[in-house]
Amino acid sequence: MFKKILIANRGEIALRVQRACREMGIKAVMVYSEADRDAKYIRLADEAVCIGPAPSANSYLNMPAIISAAEVTDAEAIHPGYGFLSENADFAERVERSGFTFIGPTPESIRLMGDKVSAKQAMIRAGVPCVPGSEGALPDDPVVIKRTAKAIGYPVIIKAAGGGGGRGMRVVHTEAALLHAVQTTKAEAGAAFGNPEVYMEKFLQNPRHIEIQILADTHRNAVYLGERDCSMQRRHQKVIEEAPAPGIPRRLIEKIGDRCATACRKIGYRGAGTFEFLYENGEFYFIEMNTRVQVEHPVTELISGVDIVRTQIAVAAGEKLPFTQRQVQLRGHAIECRINAEDAYKFTPSPGRITTWHAPGGPGVRVDSHAYTNYFVPSNYDSMIGKLIVHGDTREQALARMRTALAETVIEGIKTNIPLHRELMVDANFVAGGTNIHYLEEWLSQRER
Ligand code: ADP
Repeated sequence: MFKKILIANRGEIALRVQRACREMGIKAVMVYSEADRDAKYIRLADEAVCIGPAPSANSYLNMPAIISAAEVTDAEAIHPGYGFLSENADFAERVERSGFTFIGPTPESIRLMGDKVSAKQAMIRAGVPCVPGSEGALPDDPVVIKRTAKAIGYPVIIKAAGGGGGRGMRVVHTEAALLHAVQTTKAEAGAAFGNPEVYMEKFLQNPRHIEIQILADTHRNAVYLGERDCSMQRRHQKVIEEAPAPGIPRRLIEKIGDRCATACRKIGYRGAGTFEFLYENGEFYFIEMNTRVQVEHPVTELISGVDIVRTQIAVAAGEKLPFTQRQVQLRGHAIECRINAEDAYKFTPSPGRITTWHAPGGPGVRVDSHAYTNYFVPSNYDSMIGKLIVHGDTREQALARMRTALAETVIEGIKTNIPLHRELMVDANFVAGGTNIHYLEEWLSQRER
């Protein structure tokens, strides 16, 4: 096992990885920007290295600074967390070339899955069902583009091969709007992702977002840890996640989970990963794979009892997965609310000093956060300041626990989206379960009126 790991991230996930290291008897090196210098989780680390000023481009995205930090501290491996450099194949390559272990898949896997066109093609070959669409990237020929859309059937969605974070997508309802939409998306994709390639998919009207968590080792073992329902989204950003997904038959989950695990073995995948699907009328359609740990991993940890971060580290060190698919037992129900420093209904960011931080507790309650009373939320990064996760024997119990936990939570000095979560936890449709990806935005627009 590694003796020392460098954590190339910040905030709650940096603390989450640090906790896993401590439990495993591994020393944790933290890197930080000047904006994060005083954060408590930096002081909790065994060692900490400043890697640059506040802007991410100069710190958490600064590859040479991070690799030098690993060199000067004699770390053996680098955990990238999520976001920042976690899905950057060039970074993974540079880490390995500098003699460190990248805690994640190979650069080749990251590259294959990072390009949505090649990812889709690989998934089709591996027998994973995908959204009907163009075969690969769209050509320039307008006649072919129109013919492709006609064959798929309107509405269609034009998506950037290199897209991410809910950007680089455009829905088209009529042939009249098609060519212009393709051109605009191409131009935007070229500017934003450095890759103008776009592809076309059928636009599903009312799907749910269901994803499968997988874990794979370097000995050709791969398992899935059930699914998560992440349909409660705003602007393609997840707000609430839960596991299992309400109302989806277990045999369907087992079938798709098995396909995902098989696909991992086929492509030689290692580490943690997530297959994202849209689910509509009893069918799963692959949209993309995330080759890293996800924000919402705790809901799976709570129902499976598997420590996903610990397992990432163990398989990166060459260990075998400590359990087989048959030994994976899912129990109860878990829900996660993302806590953001923002206005609950206007969504404007609300950085600044937290004057009171009172976290909830009790049976089945988990708080993953790096925040505390007097913590200053910098304006330079994502507004998520923590996650509140609950577990219960049933979905009703999990909902009741989440309501209690949200009622106990006190965060003062900045605005948070806790009031929004409190309302959603008693919303009749959310409570009934199975809302689709448009539900939250529709709910918000009705609330305004
Ligand atoms: P990103 O990498 O930017 O997150 P995804 O491909 O995962 O992009 O898509 C993000 C979201 O966009 C999905 O969760 C869904 O809400 C919507 N979306 C993507 N493709 C489709 C589609 N074919 N039909 C309907 N909605 C889609």
